[in-house]
Amino acid sequence: MQNHKEIEIMVMGGTEAYFLNRGDIGQIVEEVRLETPYGLANKISVLDLGGKYVGFMSRHGEHGYSVSAPFVNSRANIYAAKEMGAKRVLSWNGAGAISPHITPGDYVIIDDYIDMTKRRDYTYYVGKGMGFIRQNPAFCPECRKALFDAAKAVEPRTFDGGVYVCTEGPRLESKAEIRMYGMWGADVVGMTIIPELYLARELEMCYASLTYISNFAEGSARLSQQQNASIFSSMLPEEVAKRMKDSTKALPLIFKNAMLSLLEDRKCNCSHSMDVYKKRGDITEDWHTWVTPPEK
Ligand SMILES: [Zn+2]
Repeated sequence: MQNHKEIEIMVMGGTEAYFLNRGDIGQIVEEVRLETPYGLANKISVLDLGGKYVGFMSRHGEHGYSVSAPFVNSRANIYAAKEMGAKRVLSWNGAGAISPHITPGDYVIIDDYIDMTKRRDYTYYVGKGMGFIRQNPAFCPECRKALFDAAKAVEPRTFDGGVYVCTEGPRLESKAEIRMYGMWGADVVGMTIIPELYLARELEMCYASLTYISNFAEGSARLSQQQNASIFSSMLPEEVAKRMKDSTKALPLIFKNAMLSLLEDRKCNCSHSMDVYKKRGDITEDWHTWVTPPEK
């Protein structure tokens, strides 16, 4: 067992997290990398937040975008969050705008998802008769509210609810795919909430995401109006690019304030997701015994 502090909440930082100063969230007291049955998890910075500890992890690497979405070791990362004691996982995820009312620089506190990923490790319960876990609500209501309140205080264009379609990547979507996702009711498109949210619930942790809009999705009329348009911020109109940049800079403050309001005991149902299996006698209280280690 590796020695480490016990944390209350884990933040999973998405694109740009590697550039942000973690000290803006709380004083860094420790940095650890945990070995898990699923391999080495990403580095965790333990931060002092008002006398309690929280963790921060950069999903895509430490010095830039070095691990693309399909290759993130989510089982190791979420396992490490649980091992550190985290009861909640708050995530930020960059996404493209599909809905016409959403634009780069906005925040969306998503409340549902469509899973279009294809080949990820979706569960800890491989080969076991467990893991039938409800996805309604898809995200923790308490964490969503905390993220919404903290984000809205900074950015008026924060939307309470939205459907996130998660694609496999690393390639971007085709125009026809985006048109189809729009018809299905998707508001934003990204590659990173799956399978983190499944895995967090399997280990009875809360999970919620602040999705910040970094680009227009492929095929958007607003995108094609721009000559030589690229979906990335370097080719966004100047004022939109600036808003997008500012929205990223504000993330540490938003997550700090959201976490300060989430340090009390949980009243949500997330800590009961495995109750049915406990009552049936399939599992004990020790979560380490629930998971199936991967075959060597
Ligand atoms: Zn919860």
